[in-house]
Parts: sequence; structure tokens; C-alpha cells
Amino acid sequence: MSNSISLDSVGDYFKKEYVRSASDGHLYLTILPTEKCNFRCTYCYEDFEIGKMTDDTLHGIKNLLTKAAPTLKNLMISWFGGEPTLNAKAMIEISEHIRQLQSQYGFVYKAHVTTNGYLLDEAMFTRFVELGINDYQITLDGDAECHDVTRKQASGKGSFEVIWNNLLNFRKIKDNFIVMLRLHITKLNEESMYRLCKMIKAEFGDDPRFTTVVEEIKNLGDGVDGADAKQFVASDAKSRAEEIKELMHESKDEQVKLIENGNPYICYASMPRQLLIRPNGTIGKCTVMLNKDANHLGKLNRNGDYELDGKKMDLWVRGFVSLDATELSCPARGIPSSPKYQNELNAVAVA
Ligand code: SF4
Repeated sequence: MSNSISLDSVGDYFKKEYVRSASDGHLYLTILPTEKCNFRCTYCYEDFEIGKMTDDTLHGIKNLLTKAAPTLKNLMISWFGGEPTLNAKAMIEISEHIRQLQSQYGFVYKAHVTTNGYLLDEAMFTRFVELGINDYQITLDGDAECHDVTRKQASGKGSFEVIWNNLLNFRKIKDNFIVMLRLHITKLNEESMYRLCKMIKAEFGDDPRFTTVVEEIKNLGDGVDGADAKQFVASDAKSRAEEIKELMHESKDEQVKLIENGNPYICYASMPRQLLIRPNGTIGKCTVMLNKDANHLGKLNRNGDYELDGKKMDLWVRGFVSLDATELSCPARGIPSSPKYQNELNAVAVA
């Protein structure tokens, strides 16, 4: 059944996103400063094989940005990992470089971090915000009782208390930022999540810089140390998510990935001008199927140049040609079934 989008039927937001995502003036880099993590979440799909960003990759990113800057209109940086704050030094060095380029060329710059929040103390947060990194996603799996069961440090200890204190300290900062608290629904955390929601409302309810989004735990891979997300998937997750959203007065339904006026969601991996840069300089598109051949498109050189496998790139951005809503929302699903990519197809889940 065709899932094609008619451009006549979508709003201006979608049209702008669609055009912007393909234009030469737009660049979206998803950067992994490290693939190591200080946590061992029981449902995690990453394998932590690649460590900190190499010096060549760091210089490669700075040089790529220097070369792109004269024609840039919009730059979006998304910091991802592993846990990106484990290599805050690289984040700061690259961000300082971006700020210099921005003052020279005047492009619009936005930066987002997906972090577990443990190392993000007040000093690091303040420096990041000064550098224009002002959009954060931090996950909580309940209050300490349940969060510490599923979001353990690599040492096996819990992590809630430190993250919560960091969040409380962010309130002192006067600058503008957004912290989206991603509340994970698991089989274990019904009561714990309600307690957490009350804590969030009490501490952050009056501060519009803090928002929440409710997500079900999903099975994205094989996990680490034999862990398996399936054991944490709650059968009543959907109804619980609705209750929590009501409790937190959420109006947006992130689960269906539609924005308010019904526009289709476009995954960054669909965007022609988006690149994922791994710590060893490997260039990909998707942050989930990290070790799959279809997601290895090329390599970034120290001088900022890179070559991409055009055939693989065509697969990732095919939603921009077909205008198929499914291909735009998750191009990893249904990468055409040539023998070369067949193995990847079955391994991919929606992030
Ligand atoms: S799994 Fe799909 S939705 Fe998630 S990042 Fe990859 S392409 Fe995008």
C-alpha cells in the first residue's frame, strides 16, 4: 500500500523542513565524541567497541566545518554517543571553533545533546550553554528506586541521585536552554514513575525550560552482557504513557512522531545534508545500526575532505525522492533488498 505524501496536503512546516534538509546551505552533523559509555543500561543496544575520538577525526570535523562555513545558512550539531560528555574536551574544542566561524560568517547554529546527565554538572552545563549547546535530552526511568535498576553505571552503582542534583543545579543558570526529560516506561516502574512525575512537577513545573516526553522501552538490539530490552517492555505501556502525559499536561504525542498539524516526521538519516561522524572518522547516517555495512558510507580525512558511497547515500535519502512517509520517518527500515543489504533489513528497529 502506498504511503506517499502529497505536498499539497502538508503544512508549511513540513515543506520548509523538506527543502531546508536538502539545500546546500544546510548542514546537520551527528557527532559521536566517543562510543564508550559510563553506564550499562540493561536495555542498551550499543557495543562500546570504538573509544574516544581520534585527533585526526577532531581535526577533520573542524576542517570540514571551516570549508563549509562560507556558504552555510543553518548548522545543526547533534552530540550523541556512547556518552558524549565522557569526551567533553572534544565537544568544547569543536564548539569553540563553530562559534568563531559563526561570528565570521553569521550562519544560524543550533546544538543538541543526548546524554545520560551524570557527568553534566553545573560547570560543564554552563560552559556548554555559553557555547550555544542549549538543547538537552536526559533519560529517567523512574525515581531512584527504579532508575537505579535499569540505568546503572558501568561500576554497577545507581545514577539517579547525581543526575537529579545536576538537574536541580541547572535551574540556577539564567541563560535559555531546553532540557527534555525522556521518561521511559518499563515493566518495573509504574509506581516509581508516578513518584518521579510528582517530583518533576514540584521542582521544574514553573520553569518552561524543562519539558518531558514519555517513551516506551524498545528493543533496539542485542544489548550488552546478554541483556535484553524485551524483559522490560511493559504490556500496558501505551495506556500508562497516556496517563503520564495527562499528569504532566503533555499535548504532543511523540510516539506517533507527528507534529501538531499532522506533518510527517523526517528522521535526520533521511536528510541529504546530514552525516553521522563516528570517533574513528567513519561516516554513516543512522545512530542505531552502527555496525552494519549499509551505514558505512565513507571516511572523514584530517583535512576535512571525505568521499561517500553514492549508492548507499541514495538508499538513505530515497524518501526525498519517493515522498513516502515511512521511508522519510525511518529510512533504515526497508532499505531495498539487494543481497548486499539484506542482512541489515532484519536487524533494524525504530529508534
Ligand atoms: S533506526 Fe530509523 S528512525 Fe532511528 S535513527 Fe535509524 S533511520 Fe532514523
